[in-house]
Amino acid sequence: MTSPKGLQADGLKYAKTIFETVRRMSADTLGVTRQGYSALESDVLDYLQGLGRDLELEISADRAGNVWMTLPGRDRSLPAFVAGSHVDSVPQGGNYDGLAGVTAALTVAWWMRRQNFQPLRDYTVLMMRCEESSFFGKAYVGSLGMMGLLKPSDMMLSHRTQNLTLGQAISSCGLDPNDLTTGKPVVDLSRIAAFVELHIEQGPTLTSNEDIRVGVVTGIRGNVRHKKVICRGQTAHSGAVNKEFRHDAVMAAAALLNTMENRWQEWLDKGEDLVFTVGVIKTGETAAISVIPGEVSFTVDMRSLSADTCERFHTLLLEEAAKLEAERGVRFEFDKPLYTAPGHVDPALSDRLSDAADANGIPCMRLPSGAGHDAAVIGGCGIPVAMIFIANQNGSHNPYEEMQMKDFMIGTDLLWHTVKAYD
Ligand SMILES: [Zn+2]
Repeated sequence: MTSPKGLQADGLKYAKTIFETVRRMSADTLGVTRQGYSALESDVLDYLQGLGRDLELEISADRAGNVWMTLPGRDRSLPAFVAGSHVDSVPQGGNYDGLAGVTAALTVAWWMRRQNFQPLRDYTVLMMRCEESSFFGKAYVGSLGMMGLLKPSDMMLSHRTQNLTLGQAISSCGLDPNDLTTGKPVVDLSRIAAFVELHIEQGPTLTSNEDIRVGVVTGIRGNVRHKKVICRGQTAHSGAVNKEFRHDAVMAAAALLNTMENRWQEWLDKGEDLVFTVGVIKTGETAAISVIPGEVSFTVDMRSLSADTCERFHTLLLEEAAKLEAERGVRFEFDKPLYTAPGHVDPALSDRLSDAADANGIPCMRLPSGAGHDAAVIGGCGIPVAMIFIANQNGSHNPYEEMQMKDFMIGTDLLWHTVKAYD
């Protein structure tokens, strides 16, 4: 078998052409825009299917519109090793979020053909639709649809700017939305042995590390969120009311957030996995420079690999808020918390990735995924899943998202070695 250098050198051109072609197809005034269940997303899938035909892969689409391209294995009775990701993007996003995983999976198939390598079991490239929530407010539509886990109410969700529902968008691609809400998968899950999703990290951990450019994901963080927490105090004249008479909503909220930031650090020091974010904060209607604020509202987003950590930190938030209510004569009103369970990766499959990295001299670390991914949906349905992260620059979900092809090829190489060593 050719050395890893072989795939890295030869595959580079193949992968580059895919990235450049799809970028051209989906270029926006800034970055790229590939809306889920749009004509453009279908065109991109058509282009990628053409590449699959060149490799003589068996191609089919499921009833959620996801495309499966299979390189037949020597034993067709075995369930397949599946690799892939999503083809859509956020509006004016980067080209690599999602597409990197599809391109890596396809490059591995191309490499197998070039090497005349036939795996024991089928190797399947899975290209999913509509992972991003930015157009219809619903994430993982393609993978949830594939599992039959969309709700009829999801189909009524409307597009952020157009007069179009999610159901209409799905129908416009020649699909029946009713097929995707039955609670039953539209694919035969027993035919999938494993799913590996390669994805850009979208965070700074790998790219700030000079030596280790790829990682194996330890889990996908779940979250507890409040869309709106209101702190109510008392509006008053900023000059006329001394400190002891004030019920300043902003100062109370600031005290709460300061406390939570300190506690967060304590929890990190204890070894817990946790991130805590207040992304939106607003004073009330009557806010003005000379008015003691009587109202401030904010969002809360806390995430962890452990649902228990999230829940306990959430309880702590409520306790600290109650203390401040007593101390400062304010009131905190929390809306209904929204829960997303952490996504579990398969430890054995993840170990196979780490083993393949070790065996081939690929420096690799373990790290959590802060963002959600289709792999979590697929793993949630009982299929062993694992993820490879690749270093990328400038974050993600923005037009400046970057990824070095050198790093991409290291990750692709790791995927190849994992597939090759699977049986
Ligand atoms: Zn993604």
